[in-house]
Amino acid sequence: MDFKLTEEHLMIRDAARDFAKTELLPGVIERDEKQEFPTQQVKKMGELGFLGMMVSPEYGGGGMDTISYILAMEEISKIDASCSVIVSVNNSLVCWGLETYGNEEQKKKYLPKLASGESIGAFCLSEPEAGSDATSQRTTAIDKGDHYILNGTKNWITNGNSADYYLVIAQTDREKKHKGINAFILEKGMEGFEVGPKEQKLGIRGSDTHTLNFNDVKVPKENRIGEDGFGFKFAMKTLSGGRIGIAAQALGIASGAYELARDYSKIRKAFGTEICNHQAIAFKLADMYTEITAARHLVMKAAWDKDQGNNYDMSGAMAKLYASKVAMDTTVEAVQVHGGNGYVKEYHVERLMRDAKITQIYEGTSEIQKIVISRGLLKD
Ligand SMILES: Cc1cc2nc3c(=O)[nH]c(=O)nc-3n(C[C@H](O)[C@H](O)[C@H](O)COP(=O)(O)OP(=O)(O)OC[C@H]3O[C@@H](n4cnc5c(N)ncnc54)[C@H](O)[C@@H]3O)c2cc1C
Repeated sequence: MDFKLTEEHLMIRDAARDFAKTELLPGVIERDEKQEFPTQQVKKMGELGFLGMMVSPEYGGGGMDTISYILAMEEISKIDASCSVIVSVNNSLVCWGLETYGNEEQKKKYLPKLASGESIGAFCLSEPEAGSDATSQRTTAIDKGDHYILNGTKNWITNGNSADYYLVIAQTDREKKHKGINAFILEKGMEGFEVGPKEQKLGIRGSDTHTLNFNDVKVPKENRIGEDGFGFKFAMKTLSGGRIGIAAQALGIASGAYELARDYSKIRKAFGTEICNHQAIAFKLADMYTEITAARHLVMKAAWDKDQGNNYDMSGAMAKLYASKVAMDTTVEAVQVHGGNGYVKEYHVERLMRDAKITQIYEGTSEIQKIVISRGLLKD
């Protein structure tokens, strides 16, 4: 067993750390306040290769492993979780899904633009009546020979307005239940495809979350991913890896909050001494650091499983379940360490606390992760 990162991993981590400090930190409070999409920052992330890290160089990506992606996600999330969810959706849902299950034409057509950040992707599974219960798809895709006709609504879609390409899950044959579901590539501007209102959110306010409406959208058959009926499996397999990215986002939010709390406790004085000299505060730091380290081990193990070709359904679910809880607990305590300053925007921890909550909800709630884990435990 070797816990050491390679030189290359360390270089990627340091590059992401420098980028986050120099390019994402300025303006992060204002973007959160105004719910402003980080257009310039996303462009730079694309130029630096953060949007297609795991895509093969053949399709314009970085050809990196999951560990590298996780390290970058953690560093970006420490500073700006709105940017890291854009990185996560583009890398581990859209690019990975397309590269793993798309055909050669689809990969050649879409991946180079997505990997370079010239275009952004969105992953569209959730509906008003189909969140945790993703099999209850109401969006329909009727087979018309050489094309499908899509009708329905998706909601909560990250990159909803900013994306150019959308992977959309829809029901073709209701009688076949989840085996009658398909996945399609839609392009912005297709007739009948409308982007609905933007959600007003608690956290990750820089990312744009929208409802999407499909009214008789004609989608060519060549835009279907995989065989007829593969859509549900496509969504579940893709989300299984996506969860490792969200676990890394949670880890980053927790580490960012811990570092701010640690540094603040060394300068803020109360009762004649720095507050870190009060054991109640020092023990909070000890708890935070221990839990973050445990979360990091789970996240790294899940990423390693994926890189080794092992099954990562359970390890990814455990990493997300635990890291998201640590993100929540750590950010609440980081606000406490900051006292009144923790409650105002300029100290950043209140934003991290708001951002942390989403990691327990999207790409499968914590309750759904427990279903995945317990099923894995009990299946034999
Ligand atoms: C900011 C944001 C961004 C998002 N981005 C995307 C995106 O890009 N693409 C996309 O497709 N979706 C996206 N989502 C949707 C997200 O994945 C869903 O919100 C999530 O899966 C939960 O579904 P739901 O909201 O319908 O809650 P519900 O499924 O209604 O769940 C409500 C509660 O019931 C619990 N519950 C449900 N079923 C069970 C069960 N069997 N056992 C125990 N508890 C259960 C849940 O855990 C939860 O606590 C996003 C959501 C948000 C808020």
